[in-house]
Amino acid sequence: MLKTRFTEAFGVEHPIAQGGMQWVGKAPLVAAVANAGALGFVTALTQPTPEELAREIRRTRDLTDKPFGVNLTILPTINPPPYAEYRRAIIEGGVKIVETAGYKPKEHVDDFKAHGVKVIHKCTAVRHALSAERMGVDAISIDGFECAGHPGEDDIPGLILIPAAADKVTVPMLASGGFADGRGLVAALALGADGINMGTRFCVTQEAQIADSFKERMVANDERQTDLIFRTLHNSARVMKNRVSEEVVAIERAGAMKGGAKFEDVQHLVAGKRGVAAMERGDTDDGIWSAGMVQGLIHDVPTVKDLVDRIVAEAEAIIDERLGGLLARHARQAA
Ligand code: NAD
Repeated sequence: MLKTRFTEAFGVEHPIAQGGMQWVGKAPLVAAVANAGALGFVTALTQPTPEELAREIRRTRDLTDKPFGVNLTILPTINPPPYAEYRRAIIEGGVKIVETAGYKPKEHVDDFKAHGVKVIHKCTAVRHALSAERMGVDAISIDGFECAGHPGEDDIPGLILIPAAADKVTVPMLASGGFADGRGLVAALALGADGINMGTRFCVTQEAQIADSFKERMVANDERQTDLIFRTLHNSARVMKNRVSEEVVAIERAGAMKGGAKFEDVQHLVAGKRGVAAMERGDTDDGIWSAGMVQGLIHDVPTVKDLVDRIVAEAEAIIDERLGGLLARHARQAA
């Protein structure tokens, strides 16, 4: 058992979270994560309406009696979501933990806190973590440049970002971006975090409701198979490298030489609806799909329970035997 400020504050067995993942954070995966003793999040905006989110929350609760949360992401979208209505669905659905992610979460944090909901804010910069802490969030999830999805614009990898945040953040902190195994968990704890958040790794599990071809491609990919899109639009996103991501990067590069690409130049390629339709068809090359560099550490498609058990057992063995063994060797040499 690895007990940390995160496991204590959120009432979970293991210091592991499955944060929001657009098109992936649905009831069966979230419940499997909860039943495995980790903390899963239903992704609010994956549900087309607040009513459907309310249904998904009920569906998750039917599958687990353990704690779980809902992710609410605040980033540019093609059609602005009715955020206040999604918040109502979360609060009235009796959800007690929310992961916010993205820009200016204050109105959301205020509303959730006023209704007794604990908030973990996911962000990609120390200054944003401190600003969220001042808003009264209960925890921070600090997301390094390795991550899938939106890494921000500072390009600071976890090896620097996590301890830099740990030096200043006082509430419990999850490390996010690049985690897939027990080695990563121990490293995160050593860097000052209280646990890890994983996205891509949980995508490649049996319970994730995505096409097998996507799981197989992420297993086959190594750590180089990502592209950064939207760099020129200041909304950078790390995605699985494929035909569409390469086309988007090429359009942005060409546009940069003519005074800057516009979102309209790539909208038809990047729309989330196109990405999810391609995923449902199993076509890994016909849309944008978020995935991190951590693909290079993913070699199988386990059940969520096997994955969580394996990570915890590996972390405990590293702490107990490998790291503890180093201390013992020093003690023997000194004697
Ligand atoms: P969408 O179809 O509305 O947009 C597709 C992508 O284009 C998103 O990444 C979005 O941020 C970006 N985008 C939209 N309008 C933009 C603009 N004017 N300028 C620059 N970029 C723009 O989004 P979706 O696929 O339905 O996803 C819903 C929400 O979830 C979005 O906010 C998206 O960013 C977020 N998301 C997050 C992650 C992640 O961080 N892991 C992954 C996928 C989606």
